[in-house]
Amino acid sequence: MSDPTAPPAASLGPDAVYREKLAAGEFCIQHCGTCGTNVFYPRQCCPDCGGGELGCVAASGDGIVYSTTVVRRKPERGGDYNVAVIQLAEGPRLMSRVENIDPHAVAIDMKVRARIAEGDGEPYVVFDPLDGGDAT
Ligand SMILES: [Zn+2]
Repeated sequence: MSDPTAPPAASLGPDAVYREKLAAGEFCIQHCGTCGTNVFYPRQCCPDCGGGELGCVAASGDGIVYSTTVVRRKPERGGDYNVAVIQLAEGPRLMSRVENIDPHAVAIDMKVRARIAEGDGEPYVVFDPLDGGDAT
C-alpha cells in the first residue's frame, strides 16, 4: 500500500512506545504536532485538539510537586511512602513518587528531577528532590 498517512502495520501503541523508551533509559512525553500541547500519559490522540500527530519528545525531567500525600504502610512492609502528582516543566502532570526524602517532608512546589527506577522488571519514573531535599 502506498497511502502515506497510514500508520505502519506493526506500529506499537503509544503506551508500548513509552515503555520501550523507558527501558532504554529515556523518559519521553508526547508532543502534539497540530496544536503544540505536550501530552502525558501516552495516548493515541491529543486531549486538547483531538489531533493524532503525537510525536515523542524527551522530557527534561524537571518538575515541581503539584500535590502530595503519604501512604501509610507498616515498617515491616517498607514503611510509609509518598505519592505525588508532579507537574513537569513541559506542562503535563503525572502521578509518581518522590524518593530519597522523608515521605512527610515532600512539599508542594518542591523542585524535583525525574529518575528511571525499576521494579518487578518494569521501568517507571520516580522523582528525587532537586536541592537535596529539606535538611542537607
Ligand atoms: Zn493537539
